[in-house]
Amino acid sequence: MRNSSLFLLFSLFSVITFSQENFRLYYEETKTGYVILADNDEVTPVSVEMNLRLENLSSSNGNDKVFVVPKKTKGHIITVLEIVNARKRIKLGFESTYNFGDHNRLKYDDDFKYYLPFPKGEDYWLSQGYNGAVSHQNENSLDFKMPIGTKVYAARGGVVVDVEQSYTKRCTTSECAKYNNYILVYHEDGTFAEYTHLKQNGAKVKVGANVKIGQLIGLSGDVGWATGPHLHFTVFFQRLKKRETLKTKFLIGKGEEAVELIEKKKYMRGY
Ligand SMILES: [Zn+2]
Repeated sequence: MRNSSLFLLFSLFSVITFSQENFRLYYEETKTGYVILADNDEVTPVSVEMNLRLENLSSSNGNDKVFVVPKKTKGHIITVLEIVNARKRIKLGFESTYNFGDHNRLKYDDDFKYYLPFPKGEDYWLSQGYNGAVSHQNENSLDFKMPIGTKVYAARGGVVVDVEQSYTKRCTTSECAKYNNYILVYHEDGTFAEYTHLKQNGAKVKVGANVKIGQLIGLSGDVGWATGPHLHFTVFFQRLKKRETLKTKFLIGKGEEAVELIEKKKYMRGY
């Protein structure tokens, strides 16, 4: 260590939602101070909110900001810290919150035509729609009522970011949300899709796989927070500590028109 009076408070506090093995914040010494770097081995960008606590150090990128670290990068520079007065004590610490996705992104492709996420030639009820009264208050999510084991198809192409398929427990209260099995897919416009309540070991894709629209990705189930067998589907922007859920359009019938789905209607995938 260069300076005997360095007070190292690095990483005071972190909030994360995924395996820490794939994302790392660290610092290195430079001739005139320090540089804070990030390694991101995830298949999506990762956003980090940094709140730097500095004494006798100046930050090239400000002290409180959301930084976006591109996917699969090493040594991404978050900020360069310069020592202000070499004879004075230094303090270097920060609080960080990080999560998948580009949290600064605001625009998405709201004209994209999603596929219904079930087999061609079949039709299912939309038992709960956007902002539904049962469990979708202030949430743009969709519930397709379907028997356990129904094949689930990608509503849009993307890369698989996360898979959970280990659970079997189900109950009708939010306490069971932690037992949700799901597949999380990242789309090219920066949005994510989550396919939820899949049956145990029902995923047909692995993390890192590229999926095409209409590709078989899993089997539906009745696991987690649910009142019966169904597929919960939601498209969202990931923000640091919450999701911003989004309305999208789906091709219906023979695939000639794309509409926003309405609760208590039955939809046919004829394409
Ligand atoms: Zn739902």
